[in-house]
Amino acid sequence: MSSWKALRAELDRWGQEGRRASFWWRDDDASAPGEALDRLVALAGKHGVPLALAVIPADMDPGLADALPRRARLQLLQHGFSHRNHAPATEKKMELGPHRSHGAVARELKAGRKRLEALFGRRFLPALVPPWNRIDPALLPRLPGLGFVGLSTFRARATAAPAPGLRQVNCHIDIIDWRERRFAGEAAALDGAVGHLAARRRAAADPTEPTGLMTHHLAHDAAAWRFLDRFLGATATHPAARWLGARQAFRAGRRAS
Ligand SMILES: [Zn+2]
Repeated sequence: MSSWKALRAELDRWGQEGRRASFWWRDDDASAPGEALDRLVALAGKHGVPLALAVIPADMDPGLADALPRRARLQLLQHGFSHRNHAPATEKKMELGPHRSHGAVARELKAGRKRLEALFGRRFLPALVPPWNRIDPALLPRLPGLGFVGLSTFRARATAAPAPGLRQVNCHIDIIDWRERRFAGEAAALDGAVGHLAARRRAAADPTEPTGLMTHHLAHDAAAWRFLDRFLGATATHPAARWLGARQAFRAGRRAS
């Protein structure tokens, strides 16, 4: 189980090898302004760390655009369409699964992208974050035709380009224990970070995929907020760590792959 000391030691190793470890931050499930969202955005500002908010277009409150500060370091992604589960109760939850026709799913995704573009303009990066981090792989080749340039799920990516014209950049750190719906604990959360960083350093995982922090502002308890503050502080001040905005993250390593 990992500790703050293990995180520092891993980043020190990157530094000793003359490398910088890239990170990016994706927060899911935004649809309306609120206290938790304000707190999240303030935390990003406090540490000077770029934040990518994955917004659910179907339920979106138009007030969201004005509630978010207009900073280059705050970018919006698309979180499915309505975040509704279409899988039967015997299967894992999925909005973008094989349970409906691809045409129906594609129409929703395109409508969602247009809504986000209309509301956020250039602040929106057309990258799709499938709810529950699951998507029918057979849908991936259709995404560029629907206007998407990026895809983000969870765990080290198998490939940077899962379909022609589509770039995948995942998350690797989940700070919530979803069975209990509370903070996962420092050791578990840090395991995600240290594990992915070490795998990249040894080239057991794609070294060019930035290590992704995944958060869910509506599910954070006090311990999750405390961890987030400390994690952002510890990484933002380490000389061998570098936080990327979503646009940079989806470009990173393009030539290398
Ligand atoms: Zn979600």
